[in-house]
Amino acid sequence: MAGTGVRRVRVRVEGLVQGVGFRPFVCGLAGTYGVSGFVGNDPGGVFIEAEGEPGRLEAFTAGLTGQAPPLALVERVSVEAAEPVGEPGFRIVPSRRGERPNPALVPPDAGTCAACLRELRDPGDRRHRYAFANCTDCGPRFTIVTGVPYDRCATTMADFAMCAACAREYGDPGDRRFHAQPVCCPACGPELRALDAAGRPVPGDPVEVAAGWLEEGRVVAVKGLGGYHLAVLAADGIAVATLRARKRRESRPFAVLAQDVAAAGRLVHLGWAAERLLTGTPRPIVLAPRRRDAPVADAVAPGARDLGVMLPYTPLHHLLADRLAAPYVLTSGNLTDEPIAHHDEDALRRLAGVADGFLVHDRRIEAPADDSLVRVFRGRELVVRRSRGYAPAPVSVPWRFSRPVLACGAQLKNTFCVARGDQAFLSQHIGDLESYETLRLFTESVERFCRLFGVRPDVVAHDLHPEYLSTAYARDRTGVDLVAVQHHHAHVASCLAEHGHGGPVIGVAFDGLGLGDDGTLWGGELLVADLLSYRRAGHLEAVPMPGGAAAVRQPWRMAAAWLDRLHGGALPDLAVAARHREQWPVVAGMARSGLNAPLTSSAGRLFDAVAAIAGVRDVIGYEGQAAAELEARVDPGERGAYPARVIAGEPLVIAASDLVGAAAEDVAAGVDAGRIAARFHHGLAAAVVRAVTILGEETGLRTVALSGGVFQNTVLLEAVVSGLERERFRVLTHSRVPPGDGGLALGQAVIAAAHDRR
Ligand SMILES: [Zn+2]
Ligand SMILES: [Zn+2]
Repeated sequence: MAGTGVRRVRVRVEGLVQGVGFRPFVCGLAGTYGVSGFVGNDPGGVFIEAEGEPGRLEAFTAGLTGQAPPLALVERVSVEAAEPVGEPGFRIVPSRRGERPNPALVPPDAGTCAACLRELRDPGDRRHRYAFANCTDCGPRFTIVTGVPYDRCATTMADFAMCAACAREYGDPGDRRFHAQPVCCPACGPELRALDAAGRPVPGDPVEVAAGWLEEGRVVAVKGLGGYHLAVLAADGIAVATLRARKRRESRPFAVLAQDVAAAGRLVHLGWAAERLLTGTPRPIVLAPRRRDAPVADAVAPGARDLGVMLPYTPLHHLLADRLAAPYVLTSGNLTDEPIAHHDEDALRRLAGVADGFLVHDRRIEAPADDSLVRVFRGRELVVRRSRGYAPAPVSVPWRFSRPVLACGAQLKNTFCVARGDQAFLSQHIGDLESYETLRLFTESVERFCRLFGVRPDVVAHDLHPEYLSTAYARDRTGVDLVAVQHHHAHVASCLAEHGHGGPVIGVAFDGLGLGDDGTLWGGELLVADLLSYRRAGHLEAVPMPGGAAAVRQPWRMAAAWLDRLHGGALPDLAVAARHREQWPVVAGMARSGLNAPLTSSAGRLFDAVAAIAGVRDVIGYEGQAAAELEARVDPGERGAYPARVIAGEPLVIAASDLVGAAAEDVAAGVDAGRIAARFHHGLAAAVVRAVTILGEETGLRTVALSGGVFQNTVLLEAVVSGLERERFRVLTHSRVPPGDGGLALGQAVIAAAHDRR
């Protein structure tokens, strides 16, 4: 054989190559180039042996990367020569099991593709109106995977035996369901059911029953891909208010599902970038400016200028949307602060009294995943909550994790991260680690990630804060090296990791609160940092937080602290002081004495103070609410900016009291909240730019990384980025990894690895 010029190669493909139609694609590619051999999955990825003329073989191996299917993410192709054997044809061989150092990747869930949607709506198709249709390009993945390698028997679809017709599609290399692991049909797959409030089956077509309930103004629990959601018709103000009340007075904005892009366009102003995100495979909730005439009750997103919209991402959501032909609210099926319900019995129990009826099915959800949330910044995606559709796709970094790392993340909006090789796997959104249920979800999910990605952590990174449950969890692990990472250093490192930049840079980390290395609460930080270390080169002027945690819940207390500093104890002649006349002297006194009033340089708390002074919000219902509402109030026509001094020193200090004082003067002068909000945003941004410019001259650094939850605020982000660009800085911002605490664990992981390499 060797004499005829035929060669044989052994190929390994690593990356996101399982569950994405990769093996069928390889078969097709082999057909195109006329090579013979076989392809299979193993825990490390895809193995191939291919034989043919050298030129064809080369084109074949090049095509593995160049022509890969839409959901695949090819990270590495390695080729070695083998002895030709002269076999005919090309086939898929059974998966190989066993331990390998680098198990293959589990794909994220993917929204229903156009071909499956056509079948769903085609009365002649055997999957007409079938709520679980999927193919190699779409359907459940991460949320149903129970083990590796990714095969049907390692998913919750193992509960369903394929019928002959499905088995034919599954086994036919020419079919678009060839080796689609969750393939099923009405004859063999999961079934929908409608249950009443007591969990008793209700006869009739389940979608029809649920739609009827929604039209009557009832709250319906819908079992989706990553958990249970609660649904009401978005235009039904009473139903929306009922849902809010039953979710323990939930005050967060609700997201709305629109039937299609045209329907979404009637709810919000969609630019091309938002439309692309809306229709993309992960199908996140996209925040976009709400239309004034949007057919949506005010109670859906009170106080917000934007509305979160999404398109149907499973056949079930399509069926419901098609039947209703009206947008419906879809919000996590939980009570405030609990994780999304995903086990059937648990959901029925927890949502009893919240839902009037249930639309459920019998495909188990192995792992919960909330809907992801994105904004648009300069035509690019800015992920705010990275969960369904994104997790657990790896973030590749240009550095090695020489030992496996687990990074435990923060306390609020927790995600964690496991890392090995050059890949970091950021978990789905876990939530606030403040309830037993959330902590249990955290612990179980860490174990699941370690199993799925073959990571046995030797290094465990955690926040400095001793009271975070994620810190306590890390410290309870035995036989590992612990690395404590300062919160804002982790934020900056997270941004660096996303860009593959090793620093040093000037990092601006603006967020709510994180423990500083001096024992005070930081949150408005300018760090000169690389992955190994940082220097606190500047920060926002610090102020006492009267009552500690109470000041987080009651932004007016921050107003009292600042105004007391500015007015030297006199009760200011402002509406905010009048609204809290009785408590004001006590709270201001607390700030003055420092008793039960920890110092903070937090940018989030500064936003709180200005929001309260401007009359936007005095007391919050969820973290970051006052800041979000202040951003929403910004008058886009206002160009003014409050002046703020940057006080030289080591560290330098941005005089936040200048901004607060200017806002208070404007309030006293009768300036409206929209203009105050705009002037505050612009003033803060200008001060940041000036401070960074000073540090740039001092250090010679020309690259700036912006991170922390405050940079979800696109008004501030735009003002800071454009200001820095005018000063000719290169600016790194977040895109695929959240700037908030949901992205923190990635930063912890790369810092721990940098220490390990040293
Ligand atoms: Zn499909
Ligand atoms: Zn079937």
